[in-house]
Amino acid sequence: MVKYDDLSKKEEGEQHGEGEEMASVHEKLISTVADCAPEQPRNKVTVVGVGQVGMACAFSILSGNYADELALVDVLEDKLEGEMMDLLHGSVFLKTRKIVANKDYSVTANSRIVVVTAGARQQEGESRLNLVQRNVNIFKHIIPQIVKYSPNCVIIVVSNPVDILTYITWKLSGLPKHRVIGSGCNLDSARFRYMMAEKLGIHASSFHGWILGEHGDSSVPVWSGANVAGVCLKSLNPNVGTDKDQENWKDVHKQVVDSAYKIIELKGYTNWAIGLSVADIIESLVKNLGRVHPVSTMVKNMYGINEEVFLSLPCVLNNCGVASVINVTLADDEVAKLRKSAETLWNIQKDLKDV
Ligand code: NAD
Repeated sequence: MVKYDDLSKKEEGEQHGEGEEMASVHEKLISTVADCAPEQPRNKVTVVGVGQVGMACAFSILSGNYADELALVDVLEDKLEGEMMDLLHGSVFLKTRKIVANKDYSVTANSRIVVVTAGARQQEGESRLNLVQRNVNIFKHIIPQIVKYSPNCVIIVVSNPVDILTYITWKLSGLPKHRVIGSGCNLDSARFRYMMAEKLGIHASSFHGWILGEHGDSSVPVWSGANVAGVCLKSLNPNVGTDKDQENWKDVHKQVVDSAYKIIELKGYTNWAIGLSVADIIESLVKNLGRVHPVSTMVKNMYGINEEVFLSLPCVLNNCGVASVINVTLADDEVAKLRKSAETLWNIQKDLKDV
């Protein structure tokens, strides 16, 4: 690139027949005003694992305009290049100029947020513990590389079993607990709000309800707080969420738990809703919003839990990660369910090798 003054001098010279070299189209078109040194990205987001979930996260992050740079990492080089090219060809419609991809983690350097969606899937007949141990071995390679290149990042774990893998990430990374977050019950709660709202004929965002604890089968719906416009359903029908309820609202939580299996049966995987929910968490982090999300955090010393396990509680997310946790008043049976999940998780975690 040449400066405006240089170009005018060059053109002057050419008019007088002195110039040998023709200015290029680029040089003629663009006059540099200042040679700005390239800046470090401020909101770089990395997605590790470019499978169905990773790409849905990447697409939601780009659509929401939450990153000034997006990095993709996987072990599959062709898939990485294909996904990167495909996204870059949408540049006209995006506000994220830089999208990079490589199997080498140097491409992730200076990330503010790293989303981990990589991992092995359960094989037929494989025990949960065996799957966890296989994912521990995968994470032993991934997590140190992330921290090496982005020591100040916040890591969001999405891979399943998410609560255990968040614990493993915390251990392997050496990061403080507020900077390791599991997507946890963020998706379960979103599904719950949608399904409850549908029954009431209102928009999903206008139904307020929280699913906490372990992501998946043993998640805990907090019926005591379920409300619309501050009107608690329990105040209208004290049996809501119990077996005694003739309207059987409890079934909605069952549908939430079953929905992942149902979608997997129908299309082979789930991806769009988890992608949108992860992007929503990222918005709170990068914009320092202080919004409250049901995400997986270290719950030792809360609700009588004595072990180092990660479970979902309502967490205030800002630019440092989990800034604080909301102390929800839970019913005795809800606390008992949380403790049971904590015990189950700890019984798996304590037998894991090399964590
Ligand atoms: P997928 O098989 O489509 O993608 C996994 C990707 O991980 C693949 O591209 C694979 O090449 C990559 N990978 C494997 N080992 C790797 C390594 N060492 N380094 C980098 N990349 C590696 O699976 P998916 O459908 O995208 O699901 C990903 C994970 O997300 C699963 O564990 C799934 O159970 C989980 N999930 C979680 C939630 C949630 O709410 N937390 C919801 C849906 C799915």
